[in-house]
Amino acid sequence: MKVKFTLLGCGYSMGVPRIDGYFGECNPKEKKNYRTRCSAAISFKKKNFLIDTSPDIKYQLLQNKIKNVDGVFYTHCHADQTHGINDLRVFYLKKMKRIPIYADKNTRKYLLKNFRYCFAKNSEYPPTLKMNDLKKINKIKVDSSFISLESVHVEHGKIDCIAYIINKKLGYASDISKIYKKDLKKFYNLKFFIVDCLRYKHHYSHFNFDKVLELVKIIKPKLTILTNLNTEMDYLKLKKKLPKNIVPGYDGMKFSI
Ligand SMILES: [Zn+2]
Repeated sequence: MKVKFTLLGCGYSMGVPRIDGYFGECNPKEKKNYRTRCSAAISFKKKNFLIDTSPDIKYQLLQNKIKNVDGVFYTHCHADQTHGINDLRVFYLKKMKRIPIYADKNTRKYLLKNFRYCFAKNSEYPPTLKMNDLKKINKIKVDSSFISLESVHVEHGKIDCIAYIINKKLGYASDISKIYKKDLKKFYNLKFFIVDCLRYKHHYSHFNFDKVLELVKIIKPKLTILTNLNTEMDYLKLKKKLPKNIVPGYDGMKFSI
């Protein structure tokens, strides 16, 4: 069974360019420097599951011609990963069925408090989403086949974030400052590793350039793809600095897993 993974957005919290038009070091003539906020899609058998709903989710789904969403797995509660949640309403209306949401305890709490109207009945509109607990191994069954999403807690500054390992082949860690020692082996020898690389300099809640290079030497993915890139990270300049087994991501990048 073919599973398609789409990197919907690979930009940091403010995107490139920022809302005020600031490109920083990024060349505006290079299309791959236009980065929306981090989200991803897993597609198989005409079903689509999202990782996060960035504030750019509407544009991202239009760009990638994704017309149905069958569930959403959240990484953490920050605004750049969650605030597109309201746009899921369309997918409820198409089927008149609530869209399943999967999140860990902290993210569940945040979403239920701040987007209560999406989950609970109010006097005006019916709820459009259904909250579910995230498991360690989440199996999504479609017809007779399934895909697995393993959720792994990783450090993201002062909070924990979820990294997902899909079908034991693709790791997605968009916001991360540390993999806990006990979980390191889960990330060994992946086919694809999509990982946070905010900027060149150190940052307390994200990986930077040097940290990614260090980690890749330990866990040895076949191909590492950088995401959550800020305005310092010009696509071509960054690519030239990297070994062949690491590439900068770009919006709309696709993989078969
Ligand atoms: Zn974050």
